[in-house]
Amino acid sequence: MTRRALIGVFGGTFDPVHIGHVQSARELKQLLQLDELRLLPCHRPPHRATPGVSSEDRLAMVGLAIADEPGLLVDGRELKRDAISYTVDTLSELRGELGEQPALCLIMGTDAFANLTQWHRWQALLTMAHIIVMARPDSSVPTSGELAKLIAERRVSSPSQLSDQPAGSILLVSLTAYPVSATSIRRSLAKGDSVESLLAPAVLNYIEQHRLYR
Ligand code: ATP
Repeated sequence: MTRRALIGVFGGTFDPVHIGHVQSARELKQLLQLDELRLLPCHRPPHRATPGVSSEDRLAMVGLAIADEPGLLVDGRELKRDAISYTVDTLSELRGELGEQPALCLIMGTDAFANLTQWHRWQALLTMAHIIVMARPDSSVPTSGELAKLIAERRVSSPSQLSDQPAGSILLVSLTAYPVSATSIRRSLAKGDSVESLLAPAVLNYIEQHRLYR
C-alpha cells in the first residue's frame, strides 16, 4: 500500500519572511515527513491590518527565501482572490486541486490557534485538513473552553498518525525556537538597524533594492 501524501500549508503575512519562518518550515517538513510544505502569503488578512508592503513584494520575498530549500514551495493563490483571504477558502481550493486523498496539514502557532474560533467557518477547517500547532513564546494551548475540548477530542500524539486520515487531527509540536518576529524586523529596518542575521541574504537584498520598510 502506498503511503498517503502529506502536504503542509503554512500561511502568514510574511511581512517580511524571516529565519524563524524558514527554519521552522524546514524543521516541520522533516518532523512531519511532509512531501511538500507550501508557504502562502496572505493577501488580505481577516484579523489584522493589510500590510503596508504589497502582497506581490511579500510573495517575491518568500520565493527568494526558500529558493534553495527542497520541498518548500511558495503558493501565491491567495493573491489571486480579490477578497479577504479566508483559510477555509484556501483549503477548499487545495482540496479541489489535490483531491480527497492527500493529508493537508495546516500549520499555525499557538498565538493563531488561540483565536481559531474567530476564524471564518472555523469548524470546516478540520474537515479539510489536520491542524499542526507550533508552540510559540508568549502564548500557549488553551486549557479550557471550546478549543481545549477540541484538542482533547482530536489530538494525536505522533506525526506518523497524520497519514492515517486526510484531515481531522490536531498535533502539537515544539520546534527549535527562533525568537524573531516580522514586527521587530520592520522596526529595526525603519530605524536603520542591522537585521542581517534575521533574513535570508536574497530577502535583505530585495528589501534594499525596493526600498521597503523605510
Ligand atoms: P508579525 O510580527 O508581523 O505579526 P510574524 O513574525 O509573527 O509577523 P507572520 O507572518 O504573522 O509572522 O506569521 C506566520 C506564521 O509564522 C504564524 O503561524 C506564526 O506563528 C509563525 N511564526 C512567526 N514567527 C515565527 C518564529 N520566529 N518561529 C516560528 N514560527 C513563527
